[in-house]
Order: sequence, then structure tokens, then C-alpha cells
Amino acid sequence: MEFVLSGSNPAFANSIRRAAMREVPVMAVDEVEFKSNDSAMYDEVIAHRLALVPLRTPLKGYNLPEECSCREGRCPKCSVELTLKKEGPAVVTTGDLKSSDEEVRPVSDSIPIVKLGRGQKLELTAIARLGVGKEHAKWQPGLVTYKYMPVIEFDENCNACGEWVKACPKGILEVVDGKVLVKDLTLCNLCKACVESCPNDAVKVSGDPTRFLFRVESSGAFSPDQLILQAMKVLGEKFEEFSKLVGKL
Ligand SMILES: [Zn+2]
Repeated sequence: MEFVLSGSNPAFANSIRRAAMREVPVMAVDEVEFKSNDSAMYDEVIAHRLALVPLRTPLKGYNLPEECSCREGRCPKCSVELTLKKEGPAVVTTGDLKSSDEEVRPVSDSIPIVKLGRGQKLELTAIARLGVGKEHAKWQPGLVTYKYMPVIEFDENCNACGEWVKACPKGILEVVDGKVLVKDLTLCNLCKACVESCPNDAVKVSGDPTRFLFRVESSGAFSPDQLILQAMKVLGEKFEEFSKLVGKL
């Protein structure tokens, strides 16, 4: 998803980015109990691979383990069990995981986990819990990046020689009727190749520090717009807590 944030500042844009990547809770495998593992891979390696499988996460319904009344992170309110039983020869994939909650399952069924030879068995129970990206990358629900909205300005020294058109690696400039036009400003990555190529110093490229082009890529746990909405909720709760504390001073 892409969107433009206007009338803002770099600190606020960065707060949204950080909240989305580090503070929005998402499900990931946190513990694995092995019953048998005859594969060539150690238990630890398989557990690590399982942890990095993105899981679809319902927005409501699960407690963070540290906030759950069970205090152990093992009750149905704060954990989901994914069981796996397979015998080789086969490639074990995420499609072989059976979840105790249909809403919490791998975002894709075709992620390979390990290859089993003839007669080799793998049997395990993986426990998924909610967590946040600042604790471990497996709980990162996606990537959020932003850049300043590009501003490309031409002054009266421009004779539309077309040198910029050739220099721009994104191919967003063109000359029409003796004038240079910008086809898609959002594709500009502020590399300033056009500035360097202009023989008349007639072009200026800068970033607008009040407008930001955001790009959101979700892991698939939930949609990119939900990721941003969840980040807003987290920020809102933090501000609420802060105002309560200030009120007590
Ligand atoms: Zn619990």
C-alpha cells in the first residue's frame, strides 16, 4: 500500500513507521515441542524456521502472554497450537501444519521447512503467541518506509536541452513542446542525477519535509491498511498513558 501523509513533520512520520514495525502485536511461533525429528536438521534449526513463518493474526481475541491471567502463555486465550506429523520421503511445508484456530495459520501453504528422506519422521507441536517486533524480528508484521515528497524545480536558465531526460535513471522526465515535464513525481528517488547533468545549473531537486510518501508491505498477518490502523491505535494508547501520567504530576 502507498499513501501520502501531508501537513506533517519527520518526527511524526517516523513515529508511525516505528510503531507499525516494532509495536503492533502479531502471532509467531515462540516454542516448539519435538516428539520426533529424524531429519538432517537440528531441532533448533527447524524451530527457528517455524518461528519465521508469517501467521495470519486475528485483530481481536488473543491476549499478550504477559497480560494473560494464566501467566504461562499456554492457555487458549494467549496461545495457538500448530501440530505437524509427516513421514518421508517428502518436503515438509507450512501446509502440513494443523492449527488449533483456523484464523491463525501460515499466510502461505507452500513455504518449505525441511526435506525428509525415506522413513524419516517429523512430529512436533509449535506454540504461537502474540509478540512485538522490538522483541524479535519474527514478530515484525511488515515493512514500512517513507521518503520526502520530491520537489523538482526548473528556473529560467532551462533551455530544455533534454540532458536530464537521459540522465534520470527512473525515466520520469520528458521534453514536450520545448518544455521539460515530470511524468510521475512519486517515482523520483532524489538521486539528483538530473542536477548533475544540467549544463546550465537550471534544475533544483529537494524533498518536502511536510509531505511523506509512505510504502507499506505487510507480512500477510493482516492487510497493510490494518497494519497502519493498528499502529495508530498503539500510538493513541501511548499518548493516553502519557497524558494520564502528566495529569498526576
Ligand atoms: Zn493465557
